[in-house]
Amino acid sequence: MAEETKSLNFIEQIVEDDLANGLDKSKLRFRFPPEPNGYLHIGHAASICLNFGLGLRYNAPVNLRFDDTNPAKEEQEYVDAIKNDVQWLGFKWDQVLYSSDYFQQLYDWTIDLINDGKAYVDEQSSEEIREQKGTPTSPGTNSPYRDRPISENLELFQKMKDGAFDEGAVVLRAKIDMQHNNMHMRDPILYRVLKKSHHRTGDDWCIYPMYDWTHGESDYLEQISHSFCTLEFKSHRELYDWYLDQVVDSEKIRPKQREFARRNLSYTVMSKRKLLQLVESGAVNGWDDPRMPTISGLRRRGYTPESIVNFSKISGIAKRDSITDVALLEFCIRDYLNKIAPRVMAVLDPLKIVITNYPEDKEEFVDANYNDYEEGFGSRAVPFSREIYIEKEDFREEANKKFFRLKLGGEVRLKNTYIIKANEVIKDSEGNIIEVHCTYDEDSKSGSGTEASKRKVKGTLHWVSIKHAEKVEVRLYDRLFTDEAPDGHKERDFKDFINPNSLAIGTAFVEPSLKNSEVGDKFQFQRKGYFCVDTDSNTDKLIFNKTVGLKDSFAKIEKKASQPAKNDSFEKVGPLAGKYLKARSDEDKNEIKSEIAGLSQNISFNFLLSPMQIAKSNKEILACLLVLGSGIEITENKEFDGFITNILKSNNSTIKVEGIKYILNNTMLKTKFNSDLNTLKTTDKNSYVRNLLEEQL
Ligand code: ATP
Ligand code: MG
Repeated sequence: MAEETKSLNFIEQIVEDDLANGLDKSKLRFRFPPEPNGYLHIGHAASICLNFGLGLRYNAPVNLRFDDTNPAKEEQEYVDAIKNDVQWLGFKWDQVLYSSDYFQQLYDWTIDLINDGKAYVDEQSSEEIREQKGTPTSPGTNSPYRDRPISENLELFQKMKDGAFDEGAVVLRAKIDMQHNNMHMRDPILYRVLKKSHHRTGDDWCIYPMYDWTHGESDYLEQISHSFCTLEFKSHRELYDWYLDQVVDSEKIRPKQREFARRNLSYTVMSKRKLLQLVESGAVNGWDDPRMPTISGLRRRGYTPESIVNFSKISGIAKRDSITDVALLEFCIRDYLNKIAPRVMAVLDPLKIVITNYPEDKEEFVDANYNDYEEGFGSRAVPFSREIYIEKEDFREEANKKFFRLKLGGEVRLKNTYIIKANEVIKDSEGNIIEVHCTYDEDSKSGSGTEASKRKVKGTLHWVSIKHAEKVEVRLYDRLFTDEAPDGHKERDFKDFINPNSLAIGTAFVEPSLKNSEVGDKFQFQRKGYFCVDTDSNTDKLIFNKTVGLKDSFAKIEKKASQPAKNDSFEKVGPLAGKYLKARSDEDKNEIKSEIAGLSQNISFNFLLSPMQIAKSNKEILACLLVLGSGIEITENKEFDGFITNILKSNNSTIKVEGIKYILNNTMLKTKFNSDLNTLKTTDKNSYVRNLLEEQL
């Protein structure tokens, strides 16, 4: 349902606006541009879902383009892994391309730049160049080589290409403006010397183009209509455009760079550089270690493509950086596995039960559904015998009434089979319980239809028959870091926060039906969590990864977050809205808006729904409206619609004008409230409102 009814995110809005302004839909083309210097992570999944999602939405091609301009860090292994991960997520690219495919074209364009007097070879050290760069508040100074003759630049650049210079000795720089207020425009580097073999072009080149010079021109060569990247490139946009200005043919599509916020996840790090450190330092066992936030790690952990895509969808595309709670990711996989995973029995911490009145040599098979609540899962036969394992924690010698498991003198049902009663505890010399002797009620077998089988006992326990059980390894994971934002500390290295107990290896006894499981198979171990067969398994030994527990901690977190009184940021918006009502100049108003925009990072649409419904005073109403206007993502919602309808009827002109501007900014809302707006256009008392709508509708 979400797809149609959900409002457009701001990126889709950009595309919609371009289409509305005349861009031909058949010209839409997107790309996902990973640098092959590591494996993809869950942050990349956001970008993949965004770009490939747009491709699906508009039936437009999406290229997979490897941004491979740094031979020092890039490898074929990463190219292969990235392709594999994108496909596994379920997306299809139009073409696989490489920035290195364009090295010759970029070089030719560079020669043009030099000939136009727009690039020069600088022989200063990187240190000197950095010093001349200035600061955001003070201008830079020109390089002494800035004005060398074109012929000399051509000659030196040729020498760079021929390998006459050592790494770092010279660079080629664009000649833009050392006084520019955007630091990226202060004569940025176009080429550097790197005497390294490239994973695709080998030793053909010893000069390599810089990212900025490469990215936009690659977009242009591929005729990408929209080049979406993460926020850190926002300040590069001016340079992206300057470079395009040098080569663009007005008949062709001119790519448009726009930025969105990186996806960050709590309790982990996301940069490939840092993930590589984890791999190289041995803190994890490779890129696909199930504790890693990589796509390959998540896959090995038991995540499915559907759950990752759904996570991306739910978390949305934001304009500002924030940290997404890892509990949301866990919620997504739990939700998915709940629908597909067969339920089976495994005992992780065994306690031996001897059923003393059960014949020694007897064994029987009980029919057990793979899912008691859903059709279509089927069932299997599970062997039962005189000696079984249950979980240690499911037995106590003494316990109060609230303990619904097995206690001495008490009864419990064994899942799918008999009711047993605990009669005697056997202990070792140190007093540890090593066995519990029980008796079973022969008539109580589940599904047998007898009176005894219908008898209600409080607890039901999972179990395995000892002589039939398969001994397996289980790997239980905790968070890889003990800190919510391990790389958020200025004075500390993120590796200081590695959780020394993030992996616990144990053994478990599982029912024999699991014997022939294959790598990647997923199960719910009843009452214990979701598990999947790890790639390290072999015919002699099965290994299970715990994917996620059964309990939904996210629901609790959501609940907490949506209690109105608890949102400190929203508390601060109220007084600002009051000030806004009194503000006279646009400057004052904009200042207040930007302050509110900052606070809005911590305010979700779901949270806002309740203040929207109870807002009475103009100040309260405006507070909600200004938070909405700061760009928080909205979803289809009746209460929200009611709120907007009331805004359009408001007697306060500030509220009404703000509301109208807010609607006009969003294509979906514009469509939805079209008739209200048209009525106001002709009938509103306020001429400013009428004129505004006249202009915009
Ligand atoms: P990292 O620091 O993790 O290496 P990167 O930006 O250098 O990230 P790229 O391979 O250059 O990694 O990224 C490919 C694309 O994915 C880029 O468009 C980038 O903006 C996007 N991307 C990277 N990390 C994230 C993230 N955490 N959230 C959303 N998009 C991301
Ligand atoms: Mg990068």
